Amino acid sequence: MTATDIGADPGTRPGAAPLLELRDVTRHYRTGRRFPIDSRATVHAVDGVDLTVAPGESLGVVGESGCGKSTLARVIVGLDRPTAGQVLFEGRDVSTLRGDERREWRRNVQLIFQDPYSSLDPRMSVAELIGEPFAVHDDVVPRAKRRARVQELLELVGLDPDHVDRYPHEFSGGQRQRIGIARGIALNPKLLVCDEPVSALDVSVRAQVVNLLLDLQDELGLTYVFIAHDLQIVRHLSDRVLTMYLGRVVEEGDVDTVYEAPSHPYTKALLSAAPELRAAGMRRERILLVGDPPSPIDPPSGCRFRPRCRRAAEACSTEPELLPVGGTARMSRCHFREETG
Ligand code: ADP
Ligand code: MG
Repeated sequence: MTATDIGADPGTRPGAAPLLELRDVTRHYRTGRRFPIDSRATVHAVDGVDLTVAPGESLGVVGESGCGKSTLARVIVGLDRPTAGQVLFEGRDVSTLRGDERREWRRNVQLIFQDPYSSLDPRMSVAELIGEPFAVHDDVVPRAKRRARVQELLELVGLDPDHVDRYPHEFSGGQRQRIGIARGIALNPKLLVCDEPVSALDVSVRAQVVNLLLDLQDELGLTYVFIAHDLQIVRHLSDRVLTMYLGRVVEEGDVDTVYEAPSHPYTKALLSAAPELRAAGMRRERILLVGDPPSPIDPPSGCRFRPRCRRAAEACSTEPELLPVGGTARMSRCHFREETG
């Protein structure tokens, strides 16, 4: 359906490079007073993250608020630059892309925002909102066909194509998020990064929007990075899941393996706090997460989770690496990752 097709791309061969790869990606922010330069004023929003996403795969990302999920999303789609490390798309470091190649990458990775109320300009009609990406990438759909294409997109996301001239306030929250999704898929991207796409919606409409995302993945062959607070939604949507804590990946693996037998004490605590998942899993008592996550401005030394971890021991004053857990398809950043229970 894309009007532009840059022809055979060796990067998209099956079995070729992952669609997305992050190598040791860090994003620090300097905050507050800039003078004197104070190392404590550096926010470690994302710290040394490695990840890969294969074409057609869905990677779920979970973790408490402030752990760096949105920063990671912005870095992946190029709205923010890493302080260090590399983002590779189809095997190529995106910071080296120029001209048409850069435009092609930007077209292929799109972000769906959390809040459909603040992410849609209230002064723009649906035709303008969904059509805006066509103006930015104006070789994708010829001007004369844009309105028809917007109507097609409306239909694809389950909205009435006749509502093309309406404004955001005329839609419900769920419908607005559908508009946001239509805008996200307008340019036929390969990768959709969804940053808590249903968190701001009524519980009653969340499942519908999640199901829309699942249908679109089948229809359009999309690859997802799916960030969510709701662990149940992540299980439903993801092939693999990654747990973040204070800017670090602390566990990563096949979604069923991780949900049935989490290795990292933080993942265990998150899962034990979700009653519906606890009931489905094994006899797992509720593990209370004491206190708020510490500030990413001054992360604890050693294991970042140790101040809140009930398994913390002397070894934890040295930060563990993210290492495979014996014989399973997952990794955990815990000295006691081989312990069960
Ligand atoms: P999450 O999406 O998991 O809630 P964020 O990525 O939004 O986490 O934020 C991670 C940390 O980085 C937070 O402590 C947040 O305050 C900080 N942060 C995010 N964006 C900026 C910014 N532009 N400037 C300074 N600090 C930021
Ligand atoms: Mg966020």
